[in-house]
Amino acid sequence: MNAKEKKPNIDCPRCEGFIPNNQTPGYYIGALSRADNKTEICSECGNEEAMEDWNYKFVTPVNHWPVVSERKDERADFEFKMIVKTEFPQYHSFNHTDDAV
Ligand SMILES: [Zn+2]
Repeated sequence: MNAKEKKPNIDCPRCEGFIPNNQTPGYYIGALSRADNKTEICSECGNEEAMEDWNYKFVTPVNHWPVVSERKDERADFEFKMIVKTEFPQYHSFNHTDDAV
């Protein structure tokens, strides 16, 4: 394994969710933050910043991150399910509750 190989950044520093989103972490790159024009953030934060910019001509500065967001909780939930899936594969059917009809 090449140590110089760059690991894709999947942590959104703005909301502490995943990049690009909590459903598909690391599947593609996130958005460029308007707050500093260099930090990669998740798609949803990119949308929020676009809305802030549009509505208020202002985006939440980096030193006020992380913002309050339910995506942090979503991420914790996702990670918990991944752990269960890995450690207890017999309980893998979280996402198939509608099969029970
Ligand atoms: Zn985010």
